[in-house]
Amino acid sequence: MNVSGSGPANAGLLIFRARMDQTRYDYAIVGVGAAGLQLALKMISDDYFNEKSILLIDKDDKSANDRTWCFWEKGETKWDQLATHVWATGLFYNKQETISFDLNPYRYKMVRSAGFYAYAKAEIGKAGNVKWIKDDVENIDGQQIICPDCIYHANHIFDSRIPEEFYEKKDKYHSLIQHFKGWFIRTENPIFNPDTFTMMDYRLKWKDSTSFTYVLPLSSNTVLVEFTLFNDRLLPDEEYDSYLKEYIDTYLGIKNYTVEEVEQGLIPMSDYPFHKHHTKHVTKIGTAGGWVRPSSGYSFKNADRYSTMTVENIKDGRRPEKGIATSRYRTYDSIFLNVLATRNDLGEDIFTRLYTKPAIQSVFRFLDEESSLMEDFKVMFSLNRPQFWRAFFSTFWK
Ligand SMILES: Cc1cc2nc3c(=O)[nH]c(=O)nc-3n(C[C@H](O)[C@H](O)[C@H](O)COP(=O)(O)OP(=O)(O)OC[C@H]3O[C@@H](n4cnc5c(N)ncnc54)[C@H](O)[C@@H]3O)c2cc1C
Repeated sequence: MNVSGSGPANAGLLIFRARMDQTRYDYAIVGVGAAGLQLALKMISDDYFNEKSILLIDKDDKSANDRTWCFWEKGETKWDQLATHVWATGLFYNKQETISFDLNPYRYKMVRSAGFYAYAKAEIGKAGNVKWIKDDVENIDGQQIICPDCIYHANHIFDSRIPEEFYEKKDKYHSLIQHFKGWFIRTENPIFNPDTFTMMDYRLKWKDSTSFTYVLPLSSNTVLVEFTLFNDRLLPDEEYDSYLKEYIDTYLGIKNYTVEEVEQGLIPMSDYPFHKHHTKHVTKIGTAGGWVRPSSGYSFKNADRYSTMTVENIKDGRRPEKGIATSRYRTYDSIFLNVLATRNDLGEDIFTRLYTKPAIQSVFRFLDEESSLMEDFKVMFSLNRPQFWRAFFSTFWK
């Protein structure tokens, strides 16, 4: 069936032409990626939702290793069973120095998406009140989810599709792209220390930009090496490859290796107000709901935290998105993005200050939105540069 221009004006026509799913679901989750699946898992593990019908829709099978999620958290948690690797110590390099940090009581963890999807599917399969459908959502109109051949209804819809308006208007905000390419490589000889990962290495940069490599050793002869940029333009594919080759050759000192897998992606880093796309019956979630921390691109753990908040809000009769991604941290992020967007060459210096001046544990608490005001000031003051103060005053006195 050919559906076009599926706005409210022709919704009646669509209803007429498309098949209707006769069930009215209590909740629907559109897009079951990191955020949608974590929300679904939270719902099915809470008795409140036992009697609620939940529809999950994704256009994809959700089985590929299309993401490698890294995050920090304290001690052992439910994610350990899915973690490919866990590190207790890290390194940070700039052109002058090497800084090592002990993360204790935190651990840095890697979860690969195929494992997470398989786990989530198994858990969801055990719940009797969840239906998972593969379909391509074209539009959401009120409580209707419009797909090419079927229309579904839900009382409340959680939507992880990024609004078109973001792409049209992001340049009016402080917006960068975190883009990267990584290789899982295997060496013949044991070379790596699997206990320590490299958070950022600024010794190799693309021009004078905020660009670095991070290195995640999985064993003594396997490692994920990823070349990453925080700026406003993607590179031709072969340029990422050439930076990866140079890093492996020059900084890891490895000549013989096999590339076993490739990971590539981009994450929007923006202070665009995603929250304005919530409507009476629709809550935006994930990247589309502003769940990505704009200054860092990290969001896997936010999805954990925000899914819990969403479920608690529903149970307490509040709007599902109440209190999510609207805190003072978004103001700090906006200042941070403002500086990096106007002076992208400052990234090495800024991240050196961030990861060396305050204790790493304070930085993690800050990025996890758990820091005290005093810690916030310590972190923000550690970035003491004129550009920060200018961005700070332009944010508060505009
Ligand atoms: C390669 C990569 C690596 C990353 N690494 C990290 C990391 O190490 N740590 C970290 O914290 N964050 C990381 N991120 C950022 C963030 O955690 C991920 O982007 C995360 O997947 C965002 O979750 P999400 O649910 O918003 O989006 P996704 O996981 O992308 O899920 C969105 C879902 O919506 C579906 N969908 C989209 N449009 C439609 C439609 N029209 N109809 C039906 N379904 C639709 C998609 O198929 C997808 O399943 C990474 C991102 C990428 C791209």
